Amino acid sequence: MDRERKKPPDSLFEVAVMAALPHPLTYRFPASLPVSPGQRVLVPLATRKAMGIVLGPASKLAPGIEVRDALRALDPEPALPAELVRLGIWISDYYLAPPGEVFRAMLPLRQETRRARQVRLTEEGRSKLQELTASQPEESDQDAALLAYLDRRPDASFEILQSKFPDACRRALEQKWMSIEEVNKGRSRRQVFAVRLAGPLPEHLPRLSPVAKRIIEALEHQGPAEDHRPLLVAVRAQLANLRKLGEAGLIALSEAGWRGASSGLRERDAPATAGETPAPQLTCAQTAVLADLFPRLDSGSFGVVLLHGVTGSGKTEIYLHLIAHCLERGRSAIMLVPEIALTPAMQSLFFSRFGDKVALLHSGLTERERDDAWWRVRHGQAKVVLGTRSAVFAPVVNLGVVIVDEEHDSSYKQDETPRYHGRDVAVVRAQYAGALALLGSATPSLESYWNAREGKYQLLKLEDRIGGRKLASVDVVDMRQEFRETHTQMPLSRKLKEEIDAQLRASAQTMLLLNRRGYSWFLLCRSCGETQRCVNCSVSLTYHRREHRLSCHYCGYSMAVPALCPACGSEYLHYVGEGTEKIEHKFAELFPGARVARLDRDVARRRGEFLRVLQDFRQGKIDVLVGTQLIAKGHDFPGVTLVGVVSADIGLGLPDFRAAERTFQLVTQVAGRAGRGDAPGRVLVQTFYPEHYAIRLAADQNYAGFFSKEMGFRRMMHYPPITALANIVAQHPKLERAAQVAEMIGKFFTKVESQFPAIKVLGPGPAPLAKVERRYRIQFLLKSNSRANLHALLKQLVQHATQSGIQPRDVMIDVDPVKLM
Ligand code: ADP
Ligand code: ZN
Ligand code: ZN
Repeated sequence: MDRERKKPPDSLFEVAVMAALPHPLTYRFPASLPVSPGQRVLVPLATRKAMGIVLGPASKLAPGIEVRDALRALDPEPALPAELVRLGIWISDYYLAPPGEVFRAMLPLRQETRRARQVRLTEEGRSKLQELTASQPEESDQDAALLAYLDRRPDASFEILQSKFPDACRRALEQKWMSIEEVNKGRSRRQVFAVRLAGPLPEHLPRLSPVAKRIIEALEHQGPAEDHRPLLVAVRAQLANLRKLGEAGLIALSEAGWRGASSGLRERDAPATAGETPAPQLTCAQTAVLADLFPRLDSGSFGVVLLHGVTGSGKTEIYLHLIAHCLERGRSAIMLVPEIALTPAMQSLFFSRFGDKVALLHSGLTERERDDAWWRVRHGQAKVVLGTRSAVFAPVVNLGVVIVDEEHDSSYKQDETPRYHGRDVAVVRAQYAGALALLGSATPSLESYWNAREGKYQLLKLEDRIGGRKLASVDVVDMRQEFRETHTQMPLSRKLKEEIDAQLRASAQTMLLLNRRGYSWFLLCRSCGETQRCVNCSVSLTYHRREHRLSCHYCGYSMAVPALCPACGSEYLHYVGEGTEKIEHKFAELFPGARVARLDRDVARRRGEFLRVLQDFRQGKIDVLVGTQLIAKGHDFPGVTLVGVVSADIGLGLPDFRAAERTFQLVTQVAGRAGRGDAPGRVLVQTFYPEHYAIRLAADQNYAGFFSKEMGFRRMMHYPPITALANIVAQHPKLERAAQVAEMIGKFFTKVESQFPAIKVLGPGPAPLAKVERRYRIQFLLKSNSRANLHALLKQLVQHATQSGIQPRDVMIDVDPVKLM
């Protein structure tokens, strides 16, 4: 080989570096480091190293631009197949998300091996520390701090030490007080800590950071954690936060060992009820739908089918047959559900039909479990993936069908960067794979139904419930009239109370929906009118009785309930409004002896309890289940004959164009939980707006009527699916900076206005939630008749923001927003 020869140009590759950069970066890969697209690599980024995904060969760079060499490959084979690299690039482009962050979300894996430089105290260091602690001379504060730190953490990483104690580090190395060792942190050596509260919490807690509060609260609610890692994920904290609390004596960390190689499937996810549900004989309607679907699957070309099937029409059986058919043809399947914690029944169905071909992918898994499941899928050992939103990225081999159950559900939209919609990504994924996308719902989103109307999707219907069962009959209770007649503000109307009484006498089961967790909405001072607000967000704190604390449903901040109004000192503090916890609590007074349980996100956090409640309810050990929308989704409890909607209105007043759609879906879905067994079901909907079309049409379970009414409104107001929408929020912890960023964005929009006549810019104005997690938020809403135009404008915006020195995190861009709050 001629050493003088120039490197071939194809050794330049574009890499999506896992950092908040708007574009991929180009790196040089020496001949000794052959890579291919989809491979994970380590690259230099400024003064540090970062992980990245190789996207493909780079185009020629302008002369004079310096290209750095990549360091090494992290896996011998590409982690992502080409199809998913392409999908990631599409997401980054469509949602204007930094490519690195997209791939981080797509590839929730740990690094296979990590080289770390560990530092230890030497003998000299130890005696120096003793000397320093004894004498405490001022100027060597840093040295003492460094050595004391090392003494506490024998395996501290050099990088961290260097950033904490730059000068002392140099001295300590020169003086040989510490030594550095290169270690390979392999997959099999990951330390696990057990975490618990050190003792009863002191009356007066020291000032705690929000993170620290979340940790303490989680431990208070859930009890000790055997493994610190899921805890960290749940409370969005780092190991360092735990250590700090440990040092403060509030919690105790103990080594629970090192987690080793494969643990396989978790017992708790294994088929608890395997074999309990043999496949039933298909009905004519089901057979007809499948007869339409099978050829589409076999054709091997892309297509989207919307399955509009009323609640209880047997959609699940369609999914299972389609997946089985897929497997017979040697292809794989992905099925997305809105919330896996909600569907233990779905899991056992999957395991009993498909056994060990199934892999679960959802956020409730530990890192280890997710890694295992992911690689089983990647290597083609698991061909059926059941999971939540991010399972759309499962690296299945030869995808045949991707199913999105309850496709209308808003939890498919991710509310942090990358803000993708799982359903829409599923469709693109199917397109790239030449697969079938099947979207199912009893209350399809307006977008999907519109697409079906327009002929983009094929529409299939299941119009009747299984076994000739009737849809539940729905009555509306006018709460205004109730108030006029009783002059009391009771959460349960007389009629609902009567019906519940009758249910209890007949030993029949009831579900009560109230879409608000906690005990009271907020705490109001009757003297001065102040409510207790979150310190980080512009919302009132919700009272939670079990913990006797006020807490924020946006950021998790919580505080003790004050005895006196902090603003005026008055003692007349009043709890306003009711949440699920209050209904559950009051129930015991109203119906002594009734067995009542609650299901909402507070309960769902305690996984064991959550599963127990579901199981007890199924087995008839609970008479009345009170819950939020969590109880409205997809469950199949044959014993439920009455569903009460305590307040159908909570969502209707929100400043969000989807409020009516969401209310319609919620009421229809929860009504769908009644009468799924042999006895017919009844539904009572309490509302202050009985004539609102969302309520009226949900009561009639009239989807077509709702669709045309709501489309009229969307058309008139220029909202999706008629127009394309993007939400832009300037956000910053300092109000002045948020305003400044908003002003820059506003000016930019004015400047390019003439270029984009099809786009309407609304704003700037304060976002409906003017402050969230300590950031002030100023909002723009863009409506466009042309998606291409909107996309072009947003691209320019990103470029402009980068050039103007606006940090990526200071501008939130939400394409196809689902919530405008
Ligand atoms: P959906 O998801 O459409 O609301 P499900 O799939 O939960 O409805 O089905 C409703 C009920 O009907 C379930 O209990 C299911 O086991 C049952 N079921 C589905 N298909 C059949 C069938 N062909 N024969 C008998 N029962 C069925
Ligand atoms: Zn007051
Ligand atoms: Zn908050």
